[in-house]
Amino acid sequence: MNVQENYRNIRSTIEKTCERIGRNANEVHVVAVTKYVSVQRAKEALDAGVKHLGENRDEGLIEKIEIIGEGPNWHFIGSLQTRKVKNIINKVDYIHSLDRLSLAKEIDKRAQQPIKCFVQVNVSGEEAKHGCSPEDVVKFIQTLSEYPNIMIVGLMTMAPLTEDHDVIRGCFKRLKQLQQDVQALQLLSAPCMELSMGMSNDYEIAIEEGATFIRIGTSLVGNEIGGV
Ligand SMILES: *Cc1c(COP(=O)(O)O)cnc(C)c1O
Repeated sequence: MNVQENYRNIRSTIEKTCERIGRNANEVHVVAVTKYVSVQRAKEALDAGVKHLGENRDEGLIEKIEIIGEGPNWHFIGSLQTRKVKNIINKVDYIHSLDRLSLAKEIDKRAQQPIKCFVQVNVSGEEAKHGCSPEDVVKFIQTLSEYPNIMIVGLMTMAPLTEDHDVIRGCFKRLKQLQQDVQALQLLSAPCMELSMGMSNDYEIAIEEGATFIRIGTSLVGNEIGGV
């Protein structure tokens, strides 16, 4: 299967899912996660019509931006070490992994203009996962309003690795609730209209629960250099 075919299948699943639940399919954006694959493969995704590319390491991001350029929307989706902020900050369009104040301070300091950020939330509570705890999200976002270069466009989460769809769905539902709590603050610095949730194995559930950015690697571009 080639990337174009994969993308067509994914878009068709998005459309069917949205139709079933009465959502507009245009509000679901696909971020092609190219962390496992070559620049060539990332270009194939763009040729297929993908508008958003996501990387989880600074080296990977920089390597691809240098070759591909600033055409697509670039997303940084991985956990971000504070000392690496300067390498990527004025190259990316979105950061999905804002989860602590020290990171926010560094982003604010280094950014030449407001950066669109998602606050990553560790909804499942797994210790290995990064992210702000759900109880702290609202307070954290209130605090962030002091930093003019941080714009909270939404919340992001990763569901636990499980076959149990109820657990996955519960995780996405919780993120949606937290989004509503943040929106109720009516902060200019945190419109929080977006939900970044759903990957290759669970994006259909994520769309049913309100995802606007789904992050797809394996089932779109594959997961090793060379292909699916
Ligand atoms: C790798 C990764 C993805 C994509 O995962 P797939 O299962 O390959 O679709 C999405 N989000 C994040 C944060 C990732 O690190």
